[in-house]
Amino acid sequence: MTEALTAADRLTAIRQTIAHNARIAGRDAKSVSLIAISKTVSADGIVPLLEAGHRVFGENRVQEAQAKWSALRERYPDVVLHLVGQLQSNKAADAVALFDAIHSVDRSSLVQAISKAMATVGKRPDCFIQVNIGEEDQKGGCAIADLPALLTEAREAGLPIVGLMAVPPADLEAAPYFALLAKLAKDYDLARLSMGMSGDYETAIMLGATEVRVGTALFGARG
Ligand SMILES: *Cc1c(COP(=O)(O)O)cnc(C)c1O
Repeated sequence: MTEALTAADRLTAIRQTIAHNARIAGRDAKSVSLIAISKTVSADGIVPLLEAGHRVFGENRVQEAQAKWSALRERYPDVVLHLVGQLQSNKAADAVALFDAIHSVDRSSLVQAISKAMATVGKRPDCFIQVNIGEEDQKGGCAIADLPALLTEAREAGLPIVGLMAVPPADLEAAPYFALLAKLAKDYDLARLSMGMSGDYETAIMLGATEVRVGTALFGARG
C-alpha cells in the first residue's frame, strides 16, 4: 500500500473495483453497498471520507461508536451506521438507539433484548442474522442448524430481518462459504447478504454480496 494514498483515494479505487466486479457478475453496482468499517479509526481519520461524500460506516463496539459518532453525526446528519460486532444483550438499547442496522443477531436472548429495546427506543434498525458459516468454535454467529428456529423467533419478536451476515474462517478460501451463505439466504427468502471484507470483497460481490464491510483497505492497517 502506497503511503501517499489518502483514504479518499482508496475510496475511489474501491468503488471502481466494486463497480467492475458487479459488472462482471451482471449486477447493478448500486446493488452493492460499501460499509466503511471505521473501528479504531479516530474521528479525524474518518472526516476525509465524509468530506469525500461517503456516508455508510460500520463499527464493532457500541461505546466506541457512541463516543465518535454523536459529534460526527451533528456535522453529517445523513450518516448511516451499521453495527458489525458482537452485541451483548445489556447494550441492546444503546445499539438500537445509535445504529441503523445490526449485523450480529445470533441468539435467542439477543433477539428478545433487541425486541424489547426497539419498543422502548421506538426505532427499528434493519437486522441481519449472523451465521457461524464455518462452524468454528469461539466465533460469533448462530449454527447453520439453528438458523430456521432463530429466524422464526426473530420474525415473531418483530425484528425486521433483512438478510444474513457471516465472517468465513480466516485461513481458508472464502468463496465456498460465501456461496453457502447465499444459498441459505435464498432458502429463507432473505434479500440482503453482508459478506466480504478487505481481502475478499471482490469474490463476495461475484457471489451476491449486497453489503461489503471494508476497513483496512480504506483506512490502512489498524494499530
Ligand atoms: C473489522 C471487521 C471488518 C473489516 O475488516 P477488514 O479486513 O479491515 O476490511 C469486517 N467485518 C467485521 C465483522 C469486522 O469486525
